[in-house]
Amino acid sequence: MIDLHTHTNKSDGTDSPRELVNKAIVQGLTVLGISDHDTTSSWQEAKQTLRGNLSLVLGSEISCLTSDGVSVHMLGLLFDETHAEMQIMLEETRDGRIPRMRKMIEKMRSAGFDISMDDVEAVKPVGATLGRPHLADALVSKGIIASREEAFNGMLNNDSIFYVSHAAPTPAEAIAMIRRAGGVAVIAHPFASHRGQILKPSDFEPMVTAGLNGIEVDHRDQTPEERAMLRTIARELDLAITGSSDYHGGGKVNLLAECQTDPLEWEKLESQADARRVVRV
Ligand code: AMP
Ligand code: FE
Ligand code: FE
Ligand code: ZN
Repeated sequence: MIDLHTHTNKSDGTDSPRELVNKAIVQGLTVLGISDHDTTSSWQEAKQTLRGNLSLVLGSEISCLTSDGVSVHMLGLLFDETHAEMQIMLEETRDGRIPRMRKMIEKMRSAGFDISMDDVEAVKPVGATLGRPHLADALVSKGIIASREEAFNGMLNNDSIFYVSHAAPTPAEAIAMIRRAGGVAVIAHPFASHRGQILKPSDFEPMVTAGLNGIEVDHRDQTPEERAMLRTIARELDLAITGSSDYHGGGKVNLLAECQTDPLEWEKLESQADARRVVRV
């Protein structure tokens, strides 16, 4: 059982890295990828908790914006955590999330909602990458909405009047950085249409030129038709095909290992990192 894309409370998941690793062991996963948004702060605790037959694939889901302003998530896996340029890029994105959150809150306050940055800080785990899910949790704590799900279906949707984007690298810049840091780049849920504007098939070729290694095909936010299209694109471009849960603990309905990656595809992907960085005991 191989699940390459999950989140902890170092970003917008709700399990600590320790809890996530323990769940993966109990459920019998063989390979667990941990990819918190724009950070590597989950890696250390995950490594310390590792035991038994589980292998860890440490990474980060890097927020990107295309030149057309389309939001893209790029999974960087198996890169060198000490790569200075990579850490600066992640830090700049995390920093940019703070004024972005202030702007979203200001728009809500102007519309009459009683919500503040303090409310968001109060619900955000210490050290977590700040994101819309924390704003959702704050809105829940203030009794304005009932759940993260409700928030993303309305006030916090990409099409909402309250939505503000934040500074982020382009997909090609993120891919090139991941590869310079020795890792592999997999584009996450590229056709997840309910998130707003999505990519076109012609958007993949420049990413391959930048060094893209794989496409996340099996993901709950992609329909069977979208997955079939992505599978065809991946085969044509000789990219690895992955499947993953995008597990967020209690922060989303996604269950650990609900979608998985074929062992042969994983082998193909892993072999493209510049060193063997899978963590085993
Ligand atoms: P941000 O990175 O701050 O723009 O927030 C986007 C994050 O919100 C994504 O990483 C998703 O994990 C999360 N998200 C999107 N839709 C939902 C949903 N329906 N329920 C919970 N979390 C969601
Ligand atoms: Fe998330
Ligand atoms: Fe994502
Ligand atoms: Zn994710």
